[in-house]
Amino acid sequence: MIWNLGSINVDNFYHLTHLPAPGETIAATRFHQGLGGKGANMSVAAARAAARVAHLGAVGPDGKWAVERLLEYGVDTRHIATVGTATGHANINVDAGGENNIVIFPGANHAISEAMIGAALAEASPGDFLLMQNETCGQAYAAATAKTLGLRFAYAAAPFSAAAVQEVLHYIDLLVLNAVEAAQLVEATGRDITELPIDDVVITLGADGCKWVSNKQGTVERYPAHPVDVVDTTGAGDTFTGYLVAAIDRGLPMDQAIDLGMRAAALMVAREGTADVIPDLKEIQDHDFG
Ligand code: AMP
Repeated sequence: MIWNLGSINVDNFYHLTHLPAPGETIAATRFHQGLGGKGANMSVAAARAAARVAHLGAVGPDGKWAVERLLEYGVDTRHIATVGTATGHANINVDAGGENNIVIFPGANHAISEAMIGAALAEASPGDFLLMQNETCGQAYAAATAKTLGLRFAYAAAPFSAAAVQEVLHYIDLLVLNAVEAAQLVEATGRDITELPIDDVVITLGADGCKWVSNKQGTVERYPAHPVDVVDTTGAGDTFTGYLVAAIDRGLPMDQAIDLGMRAAALMVAREGTADVIPDLKEIQDHDFG
């Protein structure tokens, strides 16, 4: 079972002829709204990968639909609180050439209390996973509580913050991060990835696949990506991590879990959208990866 302390965002996409200059007002040519946030994306991905996943988080009074959507996708939503602050959201401006700028308001994601986290984790069993990213509050408390309870702890260090990752570094069993974040971590800690007190580190490399650094085994393995035509890379990393943790939770060996994550992420890269279009296991099985 996976307990995912994560963000829930409303993604508002505004398609524009050009990005607005300071003081300029322009009308969008197209608008769509979707469920997003790294946390919600990973919960959906884990559920699609047939894991049992409970989301720990918070929305505002305007976020009922987001919780209902998570529930529809098979996520346990009993530990998502409704608080007085607006649901976290991202307003994403996209110009005709695909260039964007984004405004994020963390909102309810920063109103998650330690009491809420404690109440949820009290239901967890030893060996379950705590999964986290860096878009909510309460992380150090959650990581320490999870360790006391005998949970495994998987952390996606995104958006990267040296302070945030260092606060939980000694609790991490599985760390997932991209190459830029890995370089930032090495710089912040002054230690190579192979010297970190973490059993397993997976570094994602976009179209180049990923690298698994097993400090437990003293091995480094490279995995090429499954080639696809790139349409939109948004959500690929979140899908990879959700699938990876779900597969490990279901007992798959690491290399199979990584391969499943990369298949799911490749399908995501080949389509537009985020949480609402994360593939399920059957889609992955039915797809011809060549
Ligand atoms: P990233 O967060 O960009 O490093 O991507 C996460 C994972 O998504 C990678 O480890 C790949 O498995 C997959 N992925 C990302 N970009 C591509 C691509 N262009 N083609 C195939 N797979 C990709």
